[in-house]
Amino acid sequence: MKSAMSTLHTPEQTAETSPPASADTSAKIELVGLSRDELAAELTAIGEKPFRAKQLWHWIYHQGERDFSRMTTISKAMHGALAEKFTVGRPGIAREQTSEDTSRKWLFRLDDGNEVETVFIPEEDRGAVCISSQVGCSLTCTFCHTGTMKLVRNLTAGEIVGQFMAARDSYGEWPSPTGDRLLSNIVMMGMGEPLLNYEAVAKALRIIMDGEGIALSKRRITLSTSGVVPLMDRCGEELGVNLAVSLHAVSDELRDVLVPINKKHPLKELLAACRRYPSANNARRITFEYVMLKGVNDSEADARELLRLVKGIPVKFNLIPFNPWPGSAYECSNAKDMKKFAAILNDGGFSAPIRVPRGRDILAACGQLKSASERDVAALREAARARKAEQANTTPERTTTE
Ligand code: SAH
Ligand code: SF4
Repeated sequence: MKSAMSTLHTPEQTAETSPPASADTSAKIELVGLSRDELAAELTAIGEKPFRAKQLWHWIYHQGERDFSRMTTISKAMHGALAEKFTVGRPGIAREQTSEDTSRKWLFRLDDGNEVETVFIPEEDRGAVCISSQVGCSLTCTFCHTGTMKLVRNLTAGEIVGQFMAARDSYGEWPSPTGDRLLSNIVMMGMGEPLLNYEAVAKALRIIMDGEGIALSKRRITLSTSGVVPLMDRCGEELGVNLAVSLHAVSDELRDVLVPINKKHPLKELLAACRRYPSANNARRITFEYVMLKGVNDSEADARELLRLVKGIPVKFNLIPFNPWPGSAYECSNAKDMKKFAAILNDGGFSAPIRVPRGRDILAACGQLKSASERDVAALREAARARKAEQANTTPERTTTE
């Protein structure tokens, strides 16, 4: 199945790897994704002192070590006991692809066979890992390919942290560097709506921000929401990460169509939540994402209305050229219109870069996630149907005497 899928999809530098060749881990407890308290409780349960949790935490999240026998500050006698009961895993990599523009995408196959995608987008002196929070999405934004899938399930905290850890494995970025890092930022902008899986996302981000492990600062983490207003306050108060809001329209009438959660939490409510967002100030502005849809939301009047709406909110804009997908009802705005739109926002005093799509050749750009593997499956089904039809045509009709 896997090799058949790879022949259908052969972009630049595609690598297929098997899920980690660990022994039978089914009966073992996965330590990645446990909070510090949970880790201490697990150790207490096997008769170890809770302070061992600090040592283990260091090995798992600072050193990136998965093999208990290499955890040299832990007594040899304890290695066996740990290995018998626990495992330090990663989501299995079904496929790793590197784009011509050097961005990299992983398709992870989870323990239950579900798949999610993670993308690394390197810049000159830093790079962001774009992480998924759900398999599919329960919201149905009409320009988003993930939105055409149903929500299959929420990811666990371990699966969320695991995406980042696997990305670091891939770049050999262990132990956690204290200075410059290649994988320096996280954006919760992959598949799914992170605020609709808040508990697991919050737990994962706390693990990632913990100063004795991966130690990524909240200033380097951005959570993108389509506007789940009731959880925006909690996100600001409890996590304090940067916020990005998928705005995409300046009227409720249009936003109801593009981002249907708007019917539940209309613009006025959403903008009020942005005004309240605790960590937002001039140094840490909220990002308003705005997908550029030809003839839909890209007029000069839209840009001017946008300026009026955001008055008093510390914002910057991120204009995202629409990435089409098979069957999508929209087109990307013309370059000239996008420039004009950006210029109006700039003249109003706001930063409004037009994002350069990255990783389009490996379908890693915004709104394209999961489409690749779904398309592979669709192509496989189509090929199987064609084979069947061909067989039916070439097989001589059976008679009752045969
Ligand atoms: N669910 C969250 C985060 C994931 S989507 C959210 O909606 O904010 C990350 C960004 O990509 C969002 O701003 C989303 O609106 C945008 N996006 C989705 N589909 C897109 C497409 N086909 N082209 C360009 N941007 C898209
Ligand atoms: Fe879900 Fe975000 Fe896509 Fe909307 S844009 S369907 S919230 S992933």
